[in-house]
Amino acid sequence: MKTRNKLINGAAFINGEEFIGKKTFDVVNPATGEAIVSVADLGLKDIERAINSAEEAWPSWRTTPIAERSAILKRWHDLMIKHTDEIAEIMTVESGKPLEESKIEVTYGASFVSWFAEESYRTYGDQIPSPTADKQIVVLRQPVGVCAAITPWNFPLAMVTRKVAPALAAGCTVVLKPASQTPLTAIAVAHLALAAGLPKGVFNVVTGKDAEGIGKLLATNDKIRKISFTGSTAVGKTLMQHAASTVKKISLELGGNAPFIVFDDADIEAAVKGAIAAKFRNAGQTCVAVNRFLVQEGVYDQFAERITEAVNQLKVGNGLEKGVKVGPVINQKGLEKVENHVKDAIEKGASVLTGGKHKNALFFEPTVLGDIPLEAKIAKEETFGPVVSLFRFKTEDEAVALANSTEYGLAAYFYSDNVKRCWRVAQALEAGMVGINEGAISTAVAPFGGIKESGIGREGSKYGIDEYMEIKYLCFGL
Ligand code: ADP
Repeated sequence: MKTRNKLINGAAFINGEEFIGKKTFDVVNPATGEAIVSVADLGLKDIERAINSAEEAWPSWRTTPIAERSAILKRWHDLMIKHTDEIAEIMTVESGKPLEESKIEVTYGASFVSWFAEESYRTYGDQIPSPTADKQIVVLRQPVGVCAAITPWNFPLAMVTRKVAPALAAGCTVVLKPASQTPLTAIAVAHLALAAGLPKGVFNVVTGKDAEGIGKLLATNDKIRKISFTGSTAVGKTLMQHAASTVKKISLELGGNAPFIVFDDADIEAAVKGAIAAKFRNAGQTCVAVNRFLVQEGVYDQFAERITEAVNQLKVGNGLEKGVKVGPVINQKGLEKVENHVKDAIEKGASVLTGGKHKNALFFEPTVLGDIPLEAKIAKEETFGPVVSLFRFKTEDEAVALANSTEYGLAAYFYSDNVKRCWRVAQALEAGMVGINEGAISTAVAPFGGIKESGIGREGSKYGIDEYMEIKYLCFGL
């Protein structure tokens, strides 16, 4: 790809230095099929070198005064904001998301860095009153050590900063393996971290096609004390098994099957607006994307009509073009899954209210399917595409039971203007996050994470730094 974007760089980043090695792979723009740049395809020996450099950098980083660590993180944040246009362009060409969304992600991704720069000052310990006079009890919080992070392609920046920023703020060092589809954003921001004054070896980025081999090494290596992963539930389970061999601390942010309930007493216009926000960001490829719209029978027809109109307004295309709201899906496998879910729902009796077809290349028409039977795959599996799936229900109890009838428990949304119902339903939904009359819930200041098979641990917020700290109890005999 011809570009003047100086932040595009295909070298891995180990011990503060660029490293390409003998093998490379191409990162491809999903909107055009064009290769952007060749990226280092590292072998396990190179990954070990990165782990060693993170281990060597740890003693001095953990003892660097908080004021200094925090100042470096703030400078890193500022550099990301300064380079918003370049980072956003990289995100759009490697992930396909509309440029407007990429720019928002730069602000959102950088906000984890400024948030945790501040939270580093608040890693308080405790003093516990002793039951006896001959002891003093004190609790310290200390950094875990070398951390590994494995991130997905759908948020090439925010998934990185959500893990790396709290780890660095806590005093840990990091080896990051970004998704092979979108490593360029991670590499770009690692260079900005170095420019912000982060010492060599504190943050390493390793790239490679052998996700399984690299994942296994990171999850089993005894120098790594913690692994944080965002991606599919299947891979999360494998990593959890590997991590058991050294009893590593682990955080997992896995798949979802988010319900979006529209009750008869909802503000329908607000629900449609929230539905578009919660469904179409990144062409439906987010883990908090709505997978099932459960609509009460009294407002079903009205909601179906209004959401179909709204979906028909969405412009599809290359994310670099102005006004595009829906880009391509990430790859052929992703496209086939969307096609398969839509075909299966139609075969089982769903009606097509708009769209329903593959457009061209990796583009799928924004789609609304109505009256989907519960046996359809779309009711059970994460579709990860631009498809609105409508299901009809009669009572509140039925809606809650349907919403919870999944092994996942990441996000849930519902719309109602009845305050008592809002409290009842919010408490009954089995999800780590609930949007009540709101479709856009992600922010660095709130805890992001799931229950059931959607994950372990929380990212962002005052809780997010705990994932990178150990509690140490000191008992002083007097
Ligand atoms: P997605 O379906 O969103 O691509 P994955 O779980 O396959 O989700 O990918 C998320 C991240 O996990 C990516 O960085 C990918 O390279 C990595 N990954 C994929 N398979 C494995 C594996 N077996 N072990 C460790 N990491 C993996």
